[in-house]
Amino acid sequence: MREGSLEAPTRHALGWEDPAFYDEKGLFDELERVYDICHGCRRCVSLCDAFPTLFDLVDESETFEVDGVARDDYWKVVDQCYLCDLCYQTKCPYVPPHEWNVDFPHLMLRAKAIQFDKGERKISHRLLSNTKIQGKVASLPVVSTAINAAGRNKGLRKLMEKTLDVDVRATLPEFHSKTLRKRDRNRRPADLPAREAGSTSGRVALFTTCYCNVNTPDIGQDLIRIFEHNGIPVRLTSKEECCGMPKLEQGDLKTVDKYRRTNIPELIRLIDEGWDIVAAIPSCVLMFKQELPLMYPDDPDVQKVKANIYDPFEYLAHRHKEGLLNTEFKHGLGKVAWHVPCHQRVQNIGPKTRDILALVPDTEITMIERCSGHDGTYGVRAGTWERSQKIARPVRSRVQKTAAEYLVSDCPMAASQIAEGLELRHGETNPISLLRKAYGLD
Ligand code: SF4
Ligand code: SF4
Repeated sequence: MREGSLEAPTRHALGWEDPAFYDEKGLFDELERVYDICHGCRRCVSLCDAFPTLFDLVDESETFEVDGVARDDYWKVVDQCYLCDLCYQTKCPYVPPHEWNVDFPHLMLRAKAIQFDKGERKISHRLLSNTKIQGKVASLPVVSTAINAAGRNKGLRKLMEKTLDVDVRATLPEFHSKTLRKRDRNRRPADLPAREAGSTSGRVALFTTCYCNVNTPDIGQDLIRIFEHNGIPVRLTSKEECCGMPKLEQGDLKTVDKYRRTNIPELIRLIDEGWDIVAAIPSCVLMFKQELPLMYPDDPDVQKVKANIYDPFEYLAHRHKEGLLNTEFKHGLGKVAWHVPCHQRVQNIGPKTRDILALVPDTEITMIERCSGHDGTYGVRAGTWERSQKIARPVRSRVQKTAAEYLVSDCPMAASQIAEGLELRHGETNPISLLRKAYGLD
């Protein structure tokens, strides 16, 4: 048996529509097989708490092997996985085509889907992952003010911990009643000639994303301003559901499927009209680039969206390669600590954010490739908040060591998790906002 595969990694389709996917005995047999391989390998021990949980269970068992671990305890490992995909994409030598065929994240996803199907996921987890309801309710003017105030009220936070499972110490995002869609309602895309560059058409439809729309509308506005400054007309999608990533993380694949039915036809309509798709949240881009294509390998529309959706800095890098990026910057940025979110890292596009920010004169960028520990609901839920802070600690200390003037992460949730407790000279924590500042755009 050779150690690791010499061939390029591939990935099998998820196979979630096959009844065998939901067979619990089949799941436990596969968990035992893969846990045993991981126990013999242990490369991933520092990535998250799923692996230390597994290795502790083995080391504390009577046999010191996976066969000594009670099958009921297998779930403890599943509960610590937030599907960042790092173990598959950056560490594991046993992924297909290796004959051991290890796909740890998708095995965890299968376990979560079975749990969800049996109604064993908590109702609070369903609510926390329902960005649609959160967005609709929280963007009402009075409600958003009340929710933001509640986030700072100790008594209400205790109630939220009891009812919603939100740790009383977790920092909650701001909700804006003036959403990105409302702010952009009367704007028309700039009347500019589309100029192709590489695979890009030079016209962008922004998949707004629930988070950018309601929690960080400024980032969406900054993106539009930068892109149009670079001669790229930008419009928003006409209709949109959540990308489905928060539901995927809960194993709620039926809702993922429901969202796909709205999103894919709209994105295909826009692509056929000559628009490329861009989204400012890495997890949403990954959903269309990887997770949906692996759920629907034979759906040509899903595959077409995969080929036409971009991370914002990946898009700007394509333009720069063809000499179409405006490199006249007005302000240097000094020392920037750039955290690479896991869901951007596993897109395998390279450090495009760094490449673009590095074009700004008088700018020094330190790249931090470690998980922030936020990971969707993991960083706010009672029971996992403490662990998420433990994961964030080394990232914070890396930022402190760089003496950076700015801390940025392409993922706004990761940025606020890392920034917690750090004294930073500047308030911008998103690289898109930083680029707007470097251009000197009002
Ligand atoms: S996908 Fe991420 S969270 Fe899950 S086991 Fe792998 S590294 Fe850990
Ligand atoms: S996922 Fe792969 S690299 Fe990580 S511990 Fe398991 S076998 Fe080793």
